[in-house]
Amino acid sequence: MSRAVDREHLHLKIVQEISDFVNKSTGLDTILKGVVNKISESLHFGIVSIYITDRESGNLHLMASTALADKPAASVTLPAGEGIAGMIFQTMRPFVSMNVSAHPQYKPVSDIAEEEKYDCYLGVPIVLNNRPVGVLVGQTSEKRHITPAEQTLFEIISSRLAGLLEVADTLDRLHTPSILEHKTRTYQGTGASPGVAVGKVFLVRGLFGRTGVAASPPRPPEEEKKRLLEAFSRVQKDMKDFISVLGKDKILSKSDIEIFEAHHMLLSSESPDSVRGVILARVDRGGVSAETAVVQGIESIAARFEHHPDRYVREKAQDFRDIGEKLLHELLGLQAGGGEVAEDPEGSTVLVAQDIGPSFVSMLGKNRVSGVITERGGQTSHAVIIAKSLGIPVVISIDNICDLVSSGDRVIVDGRTGFVFVNPDETLIREYESSGRRIEEIRHLFEADETAGRNPVGVAITANIGFPDDVETAAAQGVEDVGLFRTEFAFTRFEKPPGVDEQTAIYCDISKHFRGCVTVRTLDMGADKMLPYFNIPEEENPLLGLRAIRFSMEYLDLFREQIRSILLAASRGARLRILLPMVSNIWEVETARQIMDDIAAGMGLKGKAVPQLGVMLEVPALVPLIDEYSEIVDFISVGTNDLVQYLLAVDRNSTAVGHLYTSFHPAVLRVLDSIRKSADKNGLEVSICGELAGSPKGALLIFALGYRNISVSPHRISVVKFISNRVSRSALSDLRKQLMRCRNEADIERILADHLEAMDPILMEVG
Ligand code: PEP
Ligand code: MG
Repeated sequence: MSRAVDREHLHLKIVQEISDFVNKSTGLDTILKGVVNKISESLHFGIVSIYITDRESGNLHLMASTALADKPAASVTLPAGEGIAGMIFQTMRPFVSMNVSAHPQYKPVSDIAEEEKYDCYLGVPIVLNNRPVGVLVGQTSEKRHITPAEQTLFEIISSRLAGLLEVADTLDRLHTPSILEHKTRTYQGTGASPGVAVGKVFLVRGLFGRTGVAASPPRPPEEEKKRLLEAFSRVQKDMKDFISVLGKDKILSKSDIEIFEAHHMLLSSESPDSVRGVILARVDRGGVSAETAVVQGIESIAARFEHHPDRYVREKAQDFRDIGEKLLHELLGLQAGGGEVAEDPEGSTVLVAQDIGPSFVSMLGKNRVSGVITERGGQTSHAVIIAKSLGIPVVISIDNICDLVSSGDRVIVDGRTGFVFVNPDETLIREYESSGRRIEEIRHLFEADETAGRNPVGVAITANIGFPDDVETAAAQGVEDVGLFRTEFAFTRFEKPPGVDEQTAIYCDISKHFRGCVTVRTLDMGADKMLPYFNIPEEENPLLGLRAIRFSMEYLDLFREQIRSILLAASRGARLRILLPMVSNIWEVETARQIMDDIAAGMGLKGKAVPQLGVMLEVPALVPLIDEYSEIVDFISVGTNDLVQYLLAVDRNSTAVGHLYTSFHPAVLRVLDSIRKSADKNGLEVSICGELAGSPKGALLIFALGYRNISVSPHRISVVKFISNRVSRSALSDLRKQLMRCRNEADIERILADHLEAMDPILMEVG
C-alpha cells in the first residue's frame, strides 16, 4: 500500500476512533482529554490543546491539553484576539507555521511546560453556527512539514467537537450538570428527517440470525403452537392498523400499500407452503420451540429467493427475514404494544434498529412511533421516505446504537442536528419542546411577513416537488409554478413502470394544482435513485455511470413513453415544460428534441402548444458550451446538488470526504457567476433548483450573483421570499464583489451570515 493510502487509512481510523470515543464516554472534560491524547499519540504532535470560549468574558479557556499534566482544566486563560490561538479564534481561519515563535502575535502560554520549543504549529477554529467557539491546536518540537491532510483531519475533528459543544452549551444554559457527570448520554448521527421526538426506546435487536435466539428448550407442541398463533395474530393486527393509516392519510400509493398487504397475506395464508404453514408444520412435528420454528421456516423460504439472478426477487429474501424478525420480537415479548415500552406516559416509542425493513416500517403508523434511530440506512431509504411523509424525525448512521441503548431508555431524537440524548432530564426535554415551538413561531413570522410582495429586485420563486405532500404544501404557499417536478419520485408509487395513460394522468393532475407552468424533469434514474422494476446493472462508480439522461438514452422506449405522456397531457391543456437531467453531451439534447418533435408532429401539436425544452446544468462540461446549448434549448436549470459534487469531485454521500462537499467553495461561486453571465449574454432563461437556493445563505448568494429565478422545496419558500423582500440591487452588487474576492469557503459563509444577521437576526435561527 502506498504511503498516501496508508495515511488516508490512518486518518479515517483516527476520525472513527474519536467518534467512537465521543459516543462512548461521558463528561466533557473526559472527552476533551481523550481527544487531545488520541491526536497526540496518532499524529505525533508533542502538544495538542483545545481552547473554548467563555461566553460572558469572551476569553479563551484552555480546556484540555497534553501539556497541562495534572493542572485543572480552564486554569489557562487567553483574551480573545491574543496569542496565535486568539488570532485563529478571531479570524476563524486555520493557521500553520513551521516557526510560530517568530510570529509577531506569538505569546508563550505560561502554564504549558515548554522546555523545548514547540515551533511547528497547526491550529484550526472550532466553529458553530458561523460563530467561533474555540480552537484546536497541535504543536511539535520537531521541524516538519504539516500536510494539508493533517489540516483537513483537524478540521473534521473540530467540526465534531463543535457539535459536541452545542450539546454541552444547551445543557450548560439549562444549568444541567451536562453530559458530564449526568446520566444523560449524547450520540451524534445524521439527521435524515427533521423534527424532535421524545419517547421510550423500542430496540429492534436484529434477532434474526443471532445465535442463541432460538435456543430455548421446546415446550409441548400445543403450547408452542399457541404462542405462535398469538404472535401471528399480533403481527397481522399491527400490519393491518398500519395499512389503514397509510390508506386513510394517502401516505403511499395503492401499489405501495400492496407491499404491506402482501406481507400481511404471507402471514394469513393457511396453505402448507405459506410462511404460516411452513412454520406451524415444524412445531407440529414436535421437538422445536416456536422461535426455532420461525428461524428454520423463514430461512428455508428465504433460501429459495436468495440466489435468484434478478435483484428484485433476491430482495424478497430480506422481506421474509424481516417478517421472521417481527415474529421473534413478539415471541420474545419485546413487542411495542406491551411491557415497559407501552408505559411511556406520552405513549410514544422511538424505534432503534440497525436498519428498518418493511415489517418494522409498519410500526411507523401515527401515534405509535414518534422517532427512529438507525445504525445504517440512507437518506433516501424507503423507511426514511415514509417517516418523512409522516413527520417522524429520523437520525441515521450512529454506529452501534443498538448496543448503546436499552429498551425502555428515554431518548430525545433531534432529526435536524442528528443528536440523540439518552435518558435526558426534564429540563432538557422542556428545552427541546420549547425549541420545537420556536421553529413554529419562526415559520409563522416568515409567513406573516409585512413586506410581502415588495420583491424589489424581481425574484421569481417556484417549487421543487416530487411527492403528493409537496404538491399540497406548495399550493398552500400560493406558489404558481413548479420549477422542478422530480418524476422518479412519482414513479415510486408504481410496481412496474407506469404506462402512458398513468403518466399522462399524473402530469394532468399536477398541472391542475398550479396556475402557472410545471417543469417536468424526465426520469433521473440511477446512482442514489433506484426503482425496483428497473434492473440497472451494478457499477463500480454509479455516480459517474448510467444515470439520468444516459439511462433514458439507453432505454429509449421508456423515454419516448414519458415524452409522449407529457405531450398528451399538454395537448389536454396541462401547462408543462420538459427538463433533461444530467446532460453532458449536446447529442443527448438533439436526440431528445428530435423525439419530442416527431411525437408532437404525430399529435398535431405545433408552435406554442409544444412544451419548451430545457437542460439541467449539473455536469461542469456544459459551462463553457452555454453559447452552443442556447441554440437548441429554451432554458437552463442549474442543479447545484450534483454540479457541486462533480465540480469538486466529492461524492456528497461519502462519510470519508463528505466534509469537502460545500456549495460555498470559491470555485462554485465563480462557476455560478459565469453560468449566469453566459445565459444572460444569450438571452437564455436560467434558474437554480438545487438545495443551495433554499437555504438563507445560499439564496442570498444566488441573488448576489444575479440569478432571479429559483426553485426550492415547498417548506423553504417563505424564508426565501422573506429574504427576497429585503434585498436591494446596490447591496447585492456590493455583496457580489466582496464574495468574489474570497479565497475560501469560511470567508464566504461568514460574509453571507453577517449580511443575513444585519437583514434580520431571526434568519440566523434557520438552518
Ligand atoms: C440537483 O442535482 O441539484 C438537483 C436538483 O437534482 P437532484 O437533487 O434530484 O439530483
Ligand atoms: Mg441532480
